[in-house]
Amino acid sequence: MDSRLVQDSQMAVKKAADIFDKCLRFDKAKELMSQGLYPYFRVIESAQEPEIIINGRRMIMIGSNNYLGLTNHPKVKEAAIEAIKKYGTGCAGSRFLNGTLDIHVKLEEKLARFMRKEAALVFSTGFQVNLGVISALVGKDDIVIIDKMDHASIIDGCRLSFGDIRKFRHNDMNDLERVLKEYEAKDKLIVVDGVFSMEGDIASLPEIITLARKYGARVMVDDAHGIGVLGQSGRGTAEHFGLEDDVDLIMGTYSKSLASIGGFIAGSADVIHYIKHCARPLIFSASPPPASVASVSAALDIIENEPERREALWRNTKKMFNGFNELGFEVGPSQTPIIPIVVGENHNAFLMAMMLQEEGIFANVAVSPAVPNGKALIRTSYMATHTEEQLDKVLEAFKKVGKKLGFIN
Ligand code: PMP
Repeated sequence: MDSRLVQDSQMAVKKAADIFDKCLRFDKAKELMSQGLYPYFRVIESAQEPEIIINGRRMIMIGSNNYLGLTNHPKVKEAAIEAIKKYGTGCAGSRFLNGTLDIHVKLEEKLARFMRKEAALVFSTGFQVNLGVISALVGKDDIVIIDKMDHASIIDGCRLSFGDIRKFRHNDMNDLERVLKEYEAKDKLIVVDGVFSMEGDIASLPEIITLARKYGARVMVDDAHGIGVLGQSGRGTAEHFGLEDDVDLIMGTYSKSLASIGGFIAGSADVIHYIKHCARPLIFSASPPPASVASVSAALDIIENEPERREALWRNTKKMFNGFNELGFEVGPSQTPIIPIVVGENHNAFLMAMMLQEEGIFANVAVSPAVPNGKALIRTSYMATHTEEQLDKVLEAFKKVGKKLGFIN
């Protein structure tokens, strides 16, 4: 074959492949849509309240992370409006250059005080906190050790780092020790969710801290679902265990109890200073807008001044936990307001979510690979502001749908 022919045939091979081919082949979502079982991107026409409007119809919301019910609180909204009036709608730049306002710095001081740490740093999303902090801290010769059920943002933060990633079985302390022992001579960071976002169980922090001390590792806790929920004063998983001084870094998001969007990392002044100058998602992405910053500040005040909200959240949580158990559902290992109902195969979860929607209930699904195969679940989560009557309606709907599907007797 002459060289022209070889070249032509190579070009032909190249032309045959198109990077968009995978998009044309992707039919999983379309299949669900055609069966009327697609539970994603549902359009809501109202605020994240215990009751929401979808397609003009009122439904009970048990798929929100608005644990303390603050996203539509008058004081939080007023703070956001006032911030917009003073600072406008955006910062037009990153924290690093032109995007740091006085309210960013004040919020950092407030968050540091609230978390009982020396310093805190605010980011534009919780996802970016994990990307930025882990990739900044875990260098080429280091090891980052994570729980297999850690949140996607932790996994992606690890992938962005130049270090090696090692996983341990979910909340399995023997397995964690196995990994720590293997890398005794390396610098190590353990990163766990404080509250696991799908199952609602709590990380075994006391044991993790003991092992971290024994093998010389640092500990970072992603407390997205713990802050505002756990602990005597809502300071999260570390406070729940009385380990605030022992956890090196606590990460939080504003998109749950803190009623907005954004995130933060809290820890010692030197470590926060380092992250501030090395975390690329902080340096190369625009800072959180004034309205978000002001909302978080107002939400923190309410968390500190209105403990009765947390009490109401736990009252609701207990009611639902008992209610589902009494009905005979397989309730996952939850210890928090995230209560998963295990339904088996993915299809069961899609079907149940849509049948619940018919009954006026908005609940989320979590299917494999986000959860183990055959352990698909309906993820329910509660707010301080749900009423008894709303929760009774939820249990009634689960009873009806669960019986129809044969999940309960
Ligand atoms: N960590 C955990 C455990 C989460 O559940 C989430 C959000 N689902 C994040 C991090 C990311 O937070 P954000 O939504 O603020 O980006």
